[in-house]
Amino acid sequence: MSTEQNIPPVEEDLTFANFGFAEPILRAILEQGYTKPTPIQAQAMPHVMQGRDVMGAAQTGTGKTAAFVLPILQNILPLASSSASPARHPIRALVLTPTRELADQVADNAFKYAKYTDIRTAVVFGGVDMSAQTALLRSGVELLIATPGRLLDHITQKTANLSQVQFLILDEADRMLDMGFLPDLQRIISLIPAQRQTLLFSATFSPEIKKLAQSYLRDPVTIEVARQNAAADTVQQIIHMVPSEQKKDAVIKVLNARIQKGLSRQAIVFTNSRIGCSKLASALERGGIKAGAIHGDKSQIERMQILESFKSGKMDVLVATDVAARGLDIADMPCVINHELPFNAEDYVHRIGRTGRAGAQGDAIALVDPSEERLLADIEKLMNRKLVRMPVPDPAGGAGADPFFYMPYRAKDPQEASKDVSTSSAAVAAKPGNPSIKPATKSVGALLGAFAKKP
Ligand code: AMP
Repeated sequence: MSTEQNIPPVEEDLTFANFGFAEPILRAILEQGYTKPTPIQAQAMPHVMQGRDVMGAAQTGTGKTAAFVLPILQNILPLASSSASPARHPIRALVLTPTRELADQVADNAFKYAKYTDIRTAVVFGGVDMSAQTALLRSGVELLIATPGRLLDHITQKTANLSQVQFLILDEADRMLDMGFLPDLQRIISLIPAQRQTLLFSATFSPEIKKLAQSYLRDPVTIEVARQNAAADTVQQIIHMVPSEQKKDAVIKVLNARIQKGLSRQAIVFTNSRIGCSKLASALERGGIKAGAIHGDKSQIERMQILESFKSGKMDVLVATDVAARGLDIADMPCVINHELPFNAEDYVHRIGRTGRAGAQGDAIALVDPSEERLLADIEKLMNRKLVRMPVPDPAGGAGADPFFYMPYRAKDPQEASKDVSTSSAAVAAKPGNPSIKPATKSVGALLGAFAKKP
């Protein structure tokens, strides 16, 4: 029987030490500056440590990576070995993610959390050379983060063996369980012992996926941090009704208007097609905005270089298809613009989840052509709220311009609204130079999908 849990606020005095983490893990947590578990962590971690299967629905940016990585590290710690023999380092925990970028990001966190333990961590994903990954897998890895296709390549080459996996984690599980991934996933799962602990995490779970997920889980605890399919409360959502042919200009107007308001230049703009993505990035460049495009036609190295440029603040606007919609954690990303609405309403939740993360304020702006009204209605139905329609802000003060375009976003009394505006502007403009972006932590050379701790 499954237990439904609605998450209460985290107790005031709850700390990571209360969970019984071993000293090397606690030290790494403290080094990250985490003083208090987030709600999903507070609820999920005890169950994971007790060996229960978990189905966790958590908003993006709520700390769900640590919610599964930390207790898994604690669980495999007694088996960690300082021996150099690869046989002493079988894959014990496998994290599968739908995108390479998300695999990279989860691995980035896992390395930090495992750094004071003997647990070896590695990440493998496609689009990059296999040889470095092969060498690492041969030398032995306990915690492996992977995308399904590349993992199957390693399995075929006999460089990955899943026969000793005890922990299976599906991140962004709804995408992992949808039709495109399901065959690969089923093959991988058939190679993992049935006697295992399985954790499923995602921001959204459709009823069909919930049903399918049950077949992989044993007596799971279901944890929902927030109402399902909701965006974080820290995200202000605005709709601008704009005919398709005027959308490029509208993006430039919105970005320039934000700059004039003293807000950060940084934004992610989502498009539905790869061609549209490249074209829009070029148009922004022509409009004087430093922009780069990432989509599935770019090589993995290019994708990662552009992402790093964006994260380090060398580039102001990242134009992306849904390769970037899920899981990417870019600290305090102030603004997401949907150049088109996605065809799937749940993808909208994921896209706008790139902003308003970890309690920061964010704006999610969608440009909607009248032909997209049906998609908009689907989104409003999913989120169970009507989104605010506003004219496009025009820095030149043209027709339809709204000089106070930020204030009505909050729909409060004028005093409150202006207080909010100044707070959110200050929040993004406070750090000069590169206000809201965490510094790049790795060189592109390290981004080859094979790096590991203690190889
Ligand atoms: P995630 O939802 O896993 O992508 O995490 C979002 C962000 O929250 C990441 O930058 C984490 O480093 C950060 N984070 C995770 N747990 C905590 C915590 N307990 N306290 C503060 N920040 C955290």
